[in-house]
Amino acid sequence: MQCGIVFTIIVFFDPRQTKVCLFSQHSFHDLPINIMNQIEEVLNHGEKLETFMHTVRKRNPHEPEFLQAVRDVAESIIPFTEKHPKYKHHKILERIAEPERVIMFRVPWLNDKGEIEINRGYRIQMNSALGPYKGGLRFHHSVNLSVLKFLAFEQVFKNSLTGLPMGGGKGGSDFESKGKSDNEVMKFCQSFMTELARHIGSNVDVPAGDIGVGGREIGYLFGQYKRISGRFTGVLTGKGHDYGGSLIRPEATGYGLVYFAEEMLKTCGQSLKGKTITISGSGNVSQYTVEKCIEMEAKVVTVSDSEGFIYDPKGIDREKLNFIFELKNERRGRISEYAKKYGCEFFEGERPWNIPCDIAFPNATQNELDNSDAQTLIDNGCFCVAEGANMPCTTEAIHIFEKAQILYGPGKAANAGGVAVSGLEMSQNAMRYSWTRTEVDHKLKHIMKEIHRKCVEHGKMKDGYISYERGANITGFEKVAEAMIAQGLV
Ligand code: NDP
Repeated sequence: MQCGIVFTIIVFFDPRQTKVCLFSQHSFHDLPINIMNQIEEVLNHGEKLETFMHTVRKRNPHEPEFLQAVRDVAESIIPFTEKHPKYKHHKILERIAEPERVIMFRVPWLNDKGEIEINRGYRIQMNSALGPYKGGLRFHHSVNLSVLKFLAFEQVFKNSLTGLPMGGGKGGSDFESKGKSDNEVMKFCQSFMTELARHIGSNVDVPAGDIGVGGREIGYLFGQYKRISGRFTGVLTGKGHDYGGSLIRPEATGYGLVYFAEEMLKTCGQSLKGKTITISGSGNVSQYTVEKCIEMEAKVVTVSDSEGFIYDPKGIDREKLNFIFELKNERRGRISEYAKKYGCEFFEGERPWNIPCDIAFPNATQNELDNSDAQTLIDNGCFCVAEGANMPCTTEAIHIFEKAQILYGPGKAANAGGVAVSGLEMSQNAMRYSWTRTEVDHKLKHIMKEIHRKCVEHGKMKDGYISYERGANITGFEKVAEAMIAQGLV
């Protein structure tokens, strides 16, 4: 009976421990003492995780993405806080899982036909222990409280990992830019900012872009903020370079992702050169991931959008990438046009994870890579997955990667380059100065290497496997926790 319970809970809590499950054939009491202690410890952590999640679930019902993000982090943090009781005493995990402030507002605007449209706007100010709230705005029909709370929660850990003084936040709207005219996008952005303006500021909360919010939207949002406040300040990042934006900010998430992946590969004596790569998405993050992969002589064979993916076995070269830039950023067209132009296959309504590759970069959206995708990738020889998107892999997919001991880089570490350069944009704005492309790129590379180093430091397991998930969660948590303790119960 006891062994039965051991089996169930261990599998649930940490699939990497399945080796221990072999002992379930024997009596619990026959096991060597150190194995018994290990089992007890895992059971204990599993129970604590369930108790913690029960409370979070009760307080945030119907928010599956938020609960998923909290659970993924708590899996690593609960065993850590058991060894560091001061974090338990100060209830840091419980406090971190509760936003400091949630703002929801109405966004009315007039479409080109002169009709009234109404959207909902949000800003989640999650944690300000390390600095002003910082995190993107997402405009997408799927945006709701759960999605933004998960993104804001992840952002706290990510921003902490960069080592820069930034708290965590996220915001956005269920407004969809796709299919809207420039004029409609401007009207929406102006109405959205009219309300948001009172909640943000260069020392309070500094939003940036995310899905559906690129240079065009940031420009309109910034213009309206300036008009309302009468001030030209660094209240948003991702601005155009002519009006206070940092060089390399548009490239930063994609470039940073590739720098991080290269560091991961070095740990097993590999590099990107000559590797076959699958990528999802074809927006900001994917475009610059492809660019850096081309520079590092890797072959990218897929990109996608919400309608399907293209498979180009010859690889995307510079000329084809320029076509994607123009297609997606100027004409705002569909990726299927790439297949028509270059005579390759377009897989409608599918994701690219069944295409054999060495490395996969899920760069589109949350939960776009599930357990069966994870198994297919591994079966086809993929040995490295690094997340350009936020939480693109389901919890089960992550467990499969870690159990198979392939390299897996979670988004909060691997895609932190974007917010890192946003942090550098804030510094440049504060100094009223701008660094060169080379200077910013150099700083970005250094930050990504440091994040990697910190993940290894906290993520190296007894058997030598590096759990970047564990490393990123613990490193991110520790810094925020210390700052929260120092600042008292606020
Ligand atoms: P973009 O809006 O520029 O591009 C998003 C891409 O993903 C598009 O190709 C889009 O296709 C596709 N996509 C979006 N939703 C879905 C969906 N539900 N199913 C399939 N495809 C989808 O966004 P970004 O490139 O900026 O962001 C991509 C991811 O990276 C997000 O998870 C974001 O949070 C994360 N990220 C972004 C950062 C940044 O600096 N921009 C920083 C860190 C993380 P379509 O055009 O058809 O909608």
